[in-house]
Formats: sequence, structure tokens, C-alpha cells
Amino acid sequence: MTEHVVGIDYGGTSTKLLLAAAGVREAVPMAQAVVPTPRGGDALEELATHVEAFVAGRPVRGAAVTVAGIVDDRGVVLTSSNLPWLAGVAIGDVLRTRLGFAVVPVHDGRAAARAEAVLGAGRGHEDTYVVALGTGVGSAHVVRGVVEPGAHNAAGEIGHISQDEQGRPCSCGQRGCLETFIGGAHLARRWREVVAASGSASPGELDALTAQDLVAAARAGHPAATAILAEATTALARGLLGMLATVDPGRVVVGGGLGQAPDVILEPAVARLRARATFHQVPPIVPATLGPWAGAWGAALTADEVGSA
Ligand SMILES: [Zn+2]
Repeated sequence: MTEHVVGIDYGGTSTKLLLAAAGVREAVPMAQAVVPTPRGGDALEELATHVEAFVAGRPVRGAAVTVAGIVDDRGVVLTSSNLPWLAGVAIGDVLRTRLGFAVVPVHDGRAAARAEAVLGAGRGHEDTYVVALGTGVGSAHVVRGVVEPGAHNAAGEIGHISQDEQGRPCSCGQRGCLETFIGGAHLARRWREVVAASGSASPGELDALTAQDLVAAARAGHPAATAILAEATTALARGLLGMLATVDPGRVVVGGGLGQAPDVILEPAVARLRARATFHQVPPIVPATLGPWAGAWGAALTADEVGSA
């Protein structure tokens, strides 16, 4: 009987469940489901119930669950900004006890990057740099299927390379980081400032504006939106060029929510990058292909290793 692995992407608002045949080689799911994220003190009991119903008695070799936060060597969640009820919890142990198969935690951003490199737009390439343009900006260098973590497990912060010391304050304590130019939260804030200055929106409407509204306005030819994205894509080009000079990857994959707007983000950024490149080896720079399922696929890849160990 076919053995399965389960990838659980435990997100801030929704949680994705993915079932694949063990020995994952390509992104072909056997089943997928999205459930509202279980929250609070009973969250893991509720999550386990969802997983149990989803698996429906099929044999499971192992599972992995993404965590947006820091997990220590024993699998205890130290901090998680969007899942605060997990702090101090050995998430894998709790789920393993309840489900009867191995469950290990995996860093959400690194899981997604690894999946893109191994199963997505980097598939078939040994050396891929993955950049995720979401609320923030993350990145990972994936070599032969393995994320390079750095000597202190702190690699991948391309979003926090400062480009302007006089720039806007960043959540990391610096100013003018790449993330302050192209992070979704910063783009939404910039667009709110523009719309607020025009006096055309109520406070409630202003609060609801997102980076995607800015993207839509730029596509419609709004000059201020176009100017904000010109600045953003210039910063992205500069950031990627610095990365190319440092890492020299064979392929660059750009994903995340804003990575799905290649016409106004990635393509202009790559054009600017090519115009500035001198000695750099510019590899193919391509959009991600797994979309919002990248994290769940990364968890499935991890589950495969756990189960076969
Ligand atoms: Zn920063």
C-alpha cells in the first residue's frame, strides 16, 4: 500500500494541508485542503482533528508543520509573531502523540524556498536563490536541495540590507532596508499615504488598502502608484544585484504574493538589474510556480526525510 507524507502549512489566517505519495519528486498532490487556522489554547488539538480527517485512515510515513518563528533544537517554539499561542510548545511532540506518526516543525520561509528550488521553478537546477516578496522580504540559497542556513542560522535576510541610511525606519531597527521599499506592508502604507492625501477615501477604506491595491492602481496608470513601484523595483534590482555579486547562483526564483505580479514588479526589476549589471553573471530570474502551496510542499519534503530516517 502506498505510504504518504503530510505537509502542513500553519499560516496566520488559514492552514493548508497537503498529502503526497512518499518519495516526493514532483509537485503532484494526492489531496489538498485549506482550513481556518486553529487558534488559542486548543489550537493543536483542533489542528490534529483536521489532519486526522484529511488523512482519512491512509498510511502516513510522517508529517511536517511550518512555523513562522524560531524553533529550538528540541522542537520547542520560542517565538512566533503570528501564532503566539505556540510559544513554549513542543509542537511536533504534541502532534505526534495525538496523531501517531512523526511530525516535525520546519521554518515556513525556508520550507517554501526549498520547495520552489526542488519542485517548483528551480526544479532540475542545483543552485537556486529564492526570494519571497510578501508582507516582508525573505530569501534562501538552496544548493542541491538543501537551504544554506549560515553559521548562526541567520542567513537569508536580503530584505534587511539597508540601501538608504536616511530612509524609512524598518522593523529590524535599521533604516532604508530593501523591505521598506518593496515589502508588502510598506507598499500598503505608502499607498495609504497617497490615497489619504487625495482625500478620496474614508478612514475605514484607507485601513483596508493593501499592496495589491497599489499594484492595481499602477496597472491602471496612476502616476503616484507607478512612481512608488518604480522606486520599489529599482531597490529590488539593487538588492538582487548585490546578491548576484555575493552568491552567484545558477538561477533566481522570485515568489510571494507580490511575486505574482511579474508585469509590474519582477519584469521591470530585472530590466533595471540588467541595465546596471557590469561584471555580474546574471542567471535566469524567473517567477515562482508553486504559489501559495510552496510552504506545504516544503513541509512535505521535510516529512519525507523524517519518515525515511
Ligand atoms: Zn530591516
